Amino acid sequence: MAPPTISPEVRAKAVANAAASRKVRAEVKEKLSSGKLSFFEILNNPTPAIQRMRVKELLAAVSGLGPTRCEAIMVRNGISPSRRLGGLGRHQLLALGKESALLKVQTPPGSLIVMSGPGGVGKSTITSALRNDPRFWVSVSATTRAPRASESNGIDYFFLSEQKFAQMVAGGEFLEWAEFAGARYGTPKHPIQEWRAIGKHVLLEIEIEGARQVRSVDPSALLIFIAPPSWEELQSRLAARGSDSAERQAARLALGAAEMAAATEFDHTLVNSQVEDVVAQLVALATSHKVN
Ligand code: 5GP
Repeated sequence: MAPPTISPEVRAKAVANAAASRKVRAEVKEKLSSGKLSFFEILNNPTPAIQRMRVKELLAAVSGLGPTRCEAIMVRNGISPSRRLGGLGRHQLLALGKESALLKVQTPPGSLIVMSGPGGVGKSTITSALRNDPRFWVSVSATTRAPRASESNGIDYFFLSEQKFAQMVAGGEFLEWAEFAGARYGTPKHPIQEWRAIGKHVLLEIEIEGARQVRSVDPSALLIFIAPPSWEELQSRLAARGSDSAERQAARLALGAAEMAAATEFDHTLVNSQVEDVVAQLVALATSHKVN
């Protein structure tokens, strides 16, 4: 079979793209070696050219880090030589956050973003979009409710027994916790500090009472309320879920009305008419928010 032919236009575009990527990589390495940006500020950059860079190439540009120490960091943290920035796992990222050689240039801490809103408003779709954004870390809550069919432990929630949850409360391990619809939910404190220290904006998707607690323990947190375009729209979104009995739906709506009344306590209200717009607004608010 004859090899596919590439038109001169396509070839020219590929050459131009490769040149542009090389330029971005060279600029990034210069900023890193001159100490203008920290390793983590570059790692958290969402542009594709940077996400495709090899970890090894970036480490080699850190000033004062010779090939031997570079190699040692890679081996110690189980990072293969071909691993790209966008492919680093969460454990590897957190482990890199403890490498003293990478902490010489200070990384501005990430913001703490709390997102609340009535059930059915589309918070989980917004959260999913931010899970794929390297500037963000979405907190994984603990809960005493049973997992739903589509949920996995450690990804959607940490599913805990009542006893284990109570132990964590007693041990002061939660930033906040609250009861909601007969179950308990809490935000583990420790990972939040770790992710913020490497510059990630940490997103909590929690109910109102938890949002109030976060505000009181960390006044620098940014509280964002997600509202439906209208009350009728929320009603029809909940009805479209179809999994609840009429009685349960009525209870959800009553709860939703109480949640809507709390919107004024938040720093911003974003109306979820188009999910891409809300995500863009949330990203803009988070990235421009001053932590101190
Ligand atoms: P669901 O059971 O539908 O996943 O969540 C029910 C409610 O609990 C949602 O409003 C969700 O935002 C909230 N929630 C989830 N995790 C936490 C948490 O860690 N703390 C608090 N306070 N609420 C949470």
